[in-house]
This record gives sequence, C-alpha cells and structure tokens, in this order.
Amino acid sequence: MTVHRLSPEILSAIEGAVGQNGVAADPAGMAKYLGDWAGDYRGNALAVLRPASVAEVQALMRLCNELGLGVVPQGGNTGLVSGAIDSKGGLVVVSLERMNAIRQIDTENFTLQADAGCVLQTIKDACEARDCLFPLALGAQGSCQIGGNAATNAGGVNVLRYGMARDLILGLEVVLADGELWNGICGLRKNNSGYDLKQLFIGSEGTLGIITGVEVKLFPKPAKTETAYLGLASFEAAVTLFNRARRECSDLISAFEIIGSECIELARLIDPGTRAPVSAPVQVLVELSSSAAIDLNALLAGFLGDALESGLVTDAVLAASTAQARSFWAIREGLVEGQAKRGYHVRTDLSVKISDIPALIEQARRFVAYDHPGWIPLAYGHAGDGNIHFNVLPPAELAEHEARARGAEVIAGLYEIAVGLGGSISAEHGIGRSRRQEFWARLSPTHRRMVAALKSALDPKGLMNPGCLLPETETFR
Ligand SMILES: Cc1cc2nc3c(=O)[nH]c(=O)nc-3n(C[C@H](O)[C@H](O)[C@H](O)COP(=O)(O)OP(=O)(O)OC[C@H]3O[C@@H](n4cnc5c(N)ncnc54)[C@H](O)[C@@H]3O)c2cc1C
Repeated sequence: MTVHRLSPEILSAIEGAVGQNGVAADPAGMAKYLGDWAGDYRGNALAVLRPASVAEVQALMRLCNELGLGVVPQGGNTGLVSGAIDSKGGLVVVSLERMNAIRQIDTENFTLQADAGCVLQTIKDACEARDCLFPLALGAQGSCQIGGNAATNAGGVNVLRYGMARDLILGLEVVLADGELWNGICGLRKNNSGYDLKQLFIGSEGTLGIITGVEVKLFPKPAKTETAYLGLASFEAAVTLFNRARRECSDLISAFEIIGSECIELARLIDPGTRAPVSAPVQVLVELSSSAAIDLNALLAGFLGDALESGLVTDAVLAASTAQARSFWAIREGLVEGQAKRGYHVRTDLSVKISDIPALIEQARRFVAYDHPGWIPLAYGHAGDGNIHFNVLPPAELAEHEARARGAEVIAGLYEIAVGLGGSISAEHGIGRSRRQEFWARLSPTHRRMVAALKSALDPKGLMNPGCLLPETETFR
C-alpha cells in the first residue's frame, strides 16, 4: 500500500531518530534531492531525511522497518539511471550528505576509511596531500559520494589500470533494512574467509542496505604523468593502437579514451573556444603515469613516433604542460556536459569485447542512419575497457515528448546490437529504474532465483529502494 502523507506522529518519530535538522518534508526543502543531474527524471518523496551518524541511520531504519516505509538511499545524486530518485512517491529519500568525514588515512598500509557521504573529490584531494592516489576518477567526482560509488560499482577513466570500485574497496559498513549494523571494515588487504559479503552490497544500488562507511585501497601518487591527444582514421585503428600500447608501454597506461570527432561540437556548447588538437574522424586521449623515476616522455614519444611512421596514427600532440593536458581532458568532460545542456538525448553505457568495439559502433551507426534518420549518433568512451557510450541526439526540431517516445525505440535497438555481440547494456552506470525491465528480461531463471533469494534474505519486507534494479512486478518476499 502506498503511503501518501506522513502523519504528524510519524514525522515526530522520524525527528526523534534524525533530529529536526535532518528532516525536510516541504517541497522547497526537498527540491534539490528530487531532480537528477541530466534533467531526465523528476522524483517524488514523502520526506528527505539526512541522518548525521551511523546510530541515526540505524534508528531511522528500525523505524522504517516497523512502519513498513520504503527507503531510497541517496548519495551525491549524480547517477544516470534514476536509482536515487523515484517518481511514484510514498517513499522517503535518505541522503548521506551529512555523514561526510574522512575517518582515517593510513599511509603505511595504503588504506583510507571514510563515511559513505564523503565526496569523492574530497577523498582524492586528501590522498594527494599525503602523497597517495585514490584512482577512482569520473566526471562527477566533485559531487558523487564514496558510498554512491560503492553502491553503483562506479568505473571511470582509470579502470583499465586500477579496476572498478569493486576492485578498490577493502571493506564496507552497512546498516541493514531492519536497522542492524554489519561492520565489514577490518583494515586487511587479504581476508579469504568465507563469503565476501561486501561484494554483495557493491553494485546493489541501495536495494540491500544503506552503506555508511567505506574502506578503500590507496596507491603511491604518480610522480610523472604524460598525456597525448591523437588522431586516427578509424575505430579499428584505435583498437589496434590500444593493443600495441598495452604491450609497448608496459602497465603504465592509466587512461585510453576514444572520442568520435562528432562529439567535439558538444564540448563547444560548454566552452565555445574548444578546438580539438587534431583533425581526424577518431580521436584518442591516452595517459601514462608512474610513481617511479621512469622517462615516460621518451617512452610515449617513441611509441607514438612508431605509430605515426606506420600510419596507424595520423596526427599526435604530446602535452607540453599540465595546463595543456588539462585542456585535453576538458574536451572529454565538456562533451558529456554538452549533451545534458542540449537537452533530452538517448544515453547508453554499452560494453563489448575490446576487439568488438568497431563492429558495435559500425552497426549502431547503420541502425540509426536507416531506422532513425535525422538523429545524430555520438560514440565515445573508456575504450580500454570495451565501454562505449553510444548516445544519440534527437533532431533539434523534434518536440521533447516525441523525442522521448522515439528514444525508447532507439535504446531498444542499440541494446539488441550490444547483446547480439555478446555485450552488456550496463558497463558502469548500473541498472537503476531506467534499465530494470531490460536487465530482468535478459536474466536466466537460475540467475533470477538467486537474485530473488538474496533480496528476500536481506530485505524481507522489500523496503530498500523499491523499484530500483528489480522490477516492482516481482515479489521478493
Ligand atoms: C558528468 C558525469 C560523469 C559520470 N561519469 C561516470 C563514469 O565515468 N563512470 C561511472 O561509473 N559513472 C559515471 N557517472 C555516474 C555517477 O556519477 C556514478 O554512478 C556515481 O558512482 C554515483 O554516485 P552518487 O553518490 O552520486 O550516487 P547517487 O546518484 O546518489 O545514487 C546512485 C545509486 O546508489 C544508491 N546509493 C547511493 N548512496 C548509497 C549508500 N550510501 N548506500 C546504499 N545505496 C546508495 C542510490 O540509491 C542509487 O541507486 C557520471 C555522472 C555524471 C553526472
């Protein structure tokens, strides 16, 4: 049964759990928590609750469990699949933003512990000040929270060297649906004793519990970073280049981003002065980094010299300064922001085997050209991980409601292409509410049974983020 309003008695019980400062139930106070970054979704909630401690999260969850009140955990609200906002109402949003302290940095053991609401950039800055690196890096790092990164198993630009959030997390602290606390933070890098329970919560998108604390691995801060912006004739050439770079630049590649030249226009919407350093249909941003005294410049220059000579690369600019390297990255970041600025667009997060990237892009472009003429395809992404964001802009003159209706057909066609190549419909953004039907429909009966068993064991009343990740039509009790 959907609750439409919190009675004064329930509100006062909630205030008892999280304090008056921790409750917003008026439209103005809730507004900033109910809209997503891209402007695609508008949420609804009975109240936004902002606990300030683990004990307050526990008290809140005990109360919600008693009342049968559904909960939507929210981090920085930068997710791109509507996991942290729900439009139908009858739920409370629990924001972790007031739990934002770094608990401990241990530079001898290369570990850091933080509250789940700590913003990723704050963690990265604190590590840098201690000569360490926390390598998770994404465009939203100034707003997303480490708890949200854990809950979504975030990826980003450094995955090919350091792995996804799942590979970087050593321990979690979680408040379960009934308010019980599980402390899985132990400071150990190796702990091979039984089920690795933290992995259940990583990528669970708030459907199994509220993450309140996270312990992560750190690395030595790179002493040297070299960045180059390259022009190539085709996506096939980019994949060949990546394979060669992996072998010839050892394990020092920290990013390998691919950008179709059609994306540059979008970066110009954010900074009209944007000019790609090369003119070529396919562009690549490659970064090498090392904490040891290795002559990275000579390594990268030698590699690129050979690639230019063989014709694999048609143009290359090696950044001469940190500012120039930054300007390369500004293109990559600007093209994402430019899409949001342009308005509604089809957004995907596909992954295939690295060797299948050219086929994915070729088939997807052909599909859009024939089935949706006038729509503008964009291809870019973390090519070193086989992750391509194949996004499509509707024709500018199409009314938004028509674009949204047609957009659903475009997405369905793109998913078919990725799955046909043995790929995934979600490389790193997760499932949320926007992909749950497609996700669920593709699972085998055995897979569904295991997911349902986990959900009903950890959240028997179905209170944790109902409607996210798992379809509401299923019962998990
Ligand atoms: C410009 C831009 C660039 C991006 N680039 C990337 C990228 O390169 N790679 C990538 O992977 N993602 C990317 N994203 C998506 C997004 O930033 C990540 O998914 C991020 O990890 C979400 O963190 P958040 O704190 O904002 O979580 P939210 O958006 O608040 O929540 C996301 C999900 O996690 C759950 N959740 C949040 N906090 C908790 C918690 N403490 N306990 C339990 N559940 C919780 C929510 O219920 C929701 O289901 C990008 C987004 C933007 C806007």
